[in-house]
Amino acid sequence: MKTMRDYSVAFNVCSDWGYESHSTSKIGCHNATYYKVRKLVPNLPSSLVQGARDCACESLKSIKCRSKPISKEYSAMRYNSRVIRIYLESGYVTIATSDGRIKALFGIPEYYKRYLTWKIKSSDLSLHKNDNIFYLHCQVETDTPKITSEQNVLGIDRGIVNIAVCSDNTFFNSSAVKNTRAQCAYLRAKLQSKGTRSAKRKLRRLSGRERRFVTDVNHCISKQIVQLPYTVFALENLKKIRVKKRRGKTFNRKLSNWSFYELEQFIRYKAENLGKRVITVDARFTSQKCSACGHTYKGNRNGSQYLCRNCGFELHADLNASRNIAHDGISVLGRLPVNQPNVACL
Ligand SMILES: [Zn+2]
Repeated sequence: MKTMRDYSVAFNVCSDWGYESHSTSKIGCHNATYYKVRKLVPNLPSSLVQGARDCACESLKSIKCRSKPISKEYSAMRYNSRVIRIYLESGYVTIATSDGRIKALFGIPEYYKRYLTWKIKSSDLSLHKNDNIFYLHCQVETDTPKITSEQNVLGIDRGIVNIAVCSDNTFFNSSAVKNTRAQCAYLRAKLQSKGTRSAKRKLRRLSGRERRFVTDVNHCISKQIVQLPYTVFALENLKKIRVKKRRGKTFNRKLSNWSFYELEQFIRYKAENLGKRVITVDARFTSQKCSACGHTYKGNRNGSQYLCRNCGFELHADLNASRNIAHDGISVLGRLPVNQPNVACL
């Protein structure tokens, strides 16, 4: 706890300097504050002084120096590998403090034991004041699994009407999602037009609720997707989604801020956990191209309907797109030609 207090002193000196000189430079901050900090908290290990300075500079940067970040007495501390050594499998750490290095034991919740062999990237130490328990948050990483010879690719098309459509004919567009989002949009419009203070308070609460709902749905969808019997998941590059749905009405636009980036992140880490892979493909033409013959023409698509002028192939437009994504994914993997007809799914 003494170390935490010292750390927050160091942090605040650095953030003071950064805020006043309007600078987020770590080197500049170091030159200006290091000796002052050393004098104020002589026992704080110098690596922690540097850690506090880095954190202060980064949080100033993230708010563009508009306000001064302040570290409270027992705010979380960042520990890099020089000041902490974590033995995940044995369940103990050696950790640098203002009173020298100490050893501490910890327990790992059952769920996280699957990460015991992963490599630790960085860690934060925080104190829960209510129960006086220290928590060590670790970021872990491991290599993405190597591509084996047997690859089967699932294409995933993301969009507003259907959040995700997979090339194996799986659609994710629960009506619960639509209802909840429509309800939120309606409530939001009503509260915004009212504009009183309590309406604003309600709006804030509503936005939190909506965001948690989105995250929850993204978790559910990504979990189901990665459990499908495929080893590679192909997604289109994100930029496309916003452009694609411009045809929608005002109301659709209100619903359109779905967090597809979050969905992608979830699919990515859940897939990697299972030893599977995620690749991204060029988003151009995935909705215009015929997934049977490769003919590309804008007019082939009409709303949710895809009809090829060349070969007469007919399919749900999002499904057609997801099959193109799967084909592109295969060509990205460099194993099969681009326009391989996906006969098995027809
Ligand atoms: Zn065609």
